[in-house]
Amino acid sequence: MSAKTTRKRKTATRTLTRSTKSTRKTSIRKGPQRTSSARTRSTRTTRRTTSHSETPPAGDLAAEKRRMRTFLSRLTRAYPKARCSLDYETPLQLVIATILSAQCTDARVNMVTPHLFRRYPTARDLAAAEFPELEEIIRSTGFFRNKAKSIVACAQELLERHDGQVPQDLDSLVKLSGIGRKTANVVLGNAFGIPGVVVDTHVGRISRLLCLTAHKDPNKIELDLMQVVPRSKWTQLAHLFIEHGRRVCIARRPRCSECVLNDMCPSSEV
Ligand code: SF4
Repeated sequence: MSAKTTRKRKTATRTLTRSTKSTRKTSIRKGPQRTSSARTRSTRTTRRTTSHSETPPAGDLAAEKRRMRTFLSRLTRAYPKARCSLDYETPLQLVIATILSAQCTDARVNMVTPHLFRRYPTARDLAAAEFPELEEIIRSTGFFRNKAKSIVACAQELLERHDGQVPQDLDSLVKLSGIGRKTANVVLGNAFGIPGVVVDTHVGRISRLLCLTAHKDPNKIELDLMQVVPRSKWTQLAHLFIEHGRRVCIARRPRCSECVLNDMCPSSEV
């Protein structure tokens, strides 16, 4: 990253952080604070206009939404097949695959799950699993002891509270062992078609590079993105950003010259 780009982003981030601390004391469940985030975005926008002709005027949330729509449209053209890269056939399988995907590649998880799902086809089977056998099956995904505990506990809770079925609401999902907001939104969006913004490392990093957020906390990033992304695109947003993060906007060595967003990106090095 050039010194000029670094200075520009550091200044924007400092301004954002100060503005955020003073204007926004929010949690993910407190909707009304969204207006203060809009003020934060205004500050950000003012910074960007100094060097990017396509960025919107200060305070214009509608312009921010238009800017986001352009990002989505360009990324959709670039990655028309972007989708959830975990293999699954049922909501339960997606829950288990997502738990296994922590600190592990989706490709590795997809190598493990066919055997796992054949051996334990239902929540009842998983709830009764013997740890040594389950751990051996999922060993290659890393952190296999903790993941085995989460999977068995989650399956037991599904049996006790939901008759062995995966619930279709965020509040119930996040109360299950091994499931945080990210996993819950993955399941809601992909297994049930209920829009949810998934914030993983790619989504968080690219959102900051594009100055869509100044936060590192995934819950706050989720809230920022929800304001500018149409609800119907919440689920697809993560697929597009993840694909972009894997192929072009790679951590520590982004290929800005090949990026379809480079003329609108405040962090572009070209
Ligand atoms: S221009 Fe560079 S930093 Fe910005 S999104 Fe594209 S690859 Fe990432």
